Amino acid sequence: MTDQYTFQDPTSQYPKPDDSWKQEQPGAGLEQRMHPTPDAGESTYRGTGRLTGRKAVVTGADSGIGRAAVIAFAREGADVVLSYLPEEEDDAREVVKLVEAAGRTAIACPGDLKDEAYCQKLVQTAVDELGGIDLLANVAGKQQNQESILDITTEQFDETFRTNIYAMFWLCKAAVQHMPPGGTIINTTSIQAYEPSPILVDYASTKAAINAFTKGLAGQLAEKGIRVNAIAPGPIWTPLQQAGGQPEEALSSFGTQTPIGRPGQPAELAPAYVFLASAESSYVSGETLNVNGGMPTP
Ligand code: NAD
Ligand code: MG
Repeated sequence: MTDQYTFQDPTSQYPKPDDSWKQEQPGAGLEQRMHPTPDAGESTYRGTGRLTGRKAVVTGADSGIGRAAVIAFAREGADVVLSYLPEEEDDAREVVKLVEAAGRTAIACPGDLKDEAYCQKLVQTAVDELGGIDLLANVAGKQQNQESILDITTEQFDETFRTNIYAMFWLCKAAVQHMPPGGTIINTTSIQAYEPSPILVDYASTKAAINAFTKGLAGQLAEKGIRVNAIAPGPIWTPLQQAGGQPEEALSSFGTQTPIGRPGQPAELAPAYVFLASAESSYVSGETLNVNGGMPTP
């Protein structure tokens, strides 16, 4: 059996897309309906106790990168509060079972991150049910492609900013009131922060803002012993891309523009989240870790 430590060629480790990858899903999309099925580490991530006893809140926990982070956190020894949309319950159930199979506690807490009260409730749930919070991973995000600025409605612009920026702000604000020294916050930005696609103007803007927010907050919280970092994925095979993130035609070549020549899988992000979450990154704060198949970044 292979795991994240198996020595192998990254260019052939996972499949390259073809026409059969074209697919569209309504709403936020479900991982269960994707073909091929992404690898979120279900049978490939091996934990070694790097987060023993940690208390985590993870958004976007049902699918994609968030799912991979939750599986890894649990197998490294953390208990987790899972945030996701009510419509994603079927995906979330699978993740809850995987956390429990790792012998850790999973608290399912569905809701809408565009609502400040729900963001506060997530942190309070960790405090009440897990006995505190020392790890916040903001992974949820909204991405809707539009050919023209004329097609970006004020509603879409507002929802994208509320989901990607406001929720991160509300969650960080609630979490720092409970986090002990040693606590870690991980935000999720994107290659789009540096190389904005013409069809992702609103989304890319939120990702650039996440980078600045992360660096500024890292400077502010350092003296409290709380570290704040970001992860910038490149093209990763998740429901986000099928649920309006990309035009359907683009999925047949998704990720092939990267030097590694294929899309990334959510499982390939998990070690980055674990590194920034754990005390092994004790002297790293305000950093953006790029996991993007080798695309140069500033
Ligand atoms: P995903 O669809 O699996 O995860 C996004 C999650 O966001 C959803 O599962 C959903 O639970 C959550 N979400 C969206 N709106 C919400 C709301 N209003 N309330 C509560 N939850 C909400 O896709 P993913 O690709 O794993 O996305 C995770 C993060 O990675 C996002 O921040 C995304 O911008 C970022 N990212 C993804 C890629 C990529 O190619 N997939 C590239 C760069 C950055
Ligand atoms: Mg989802």
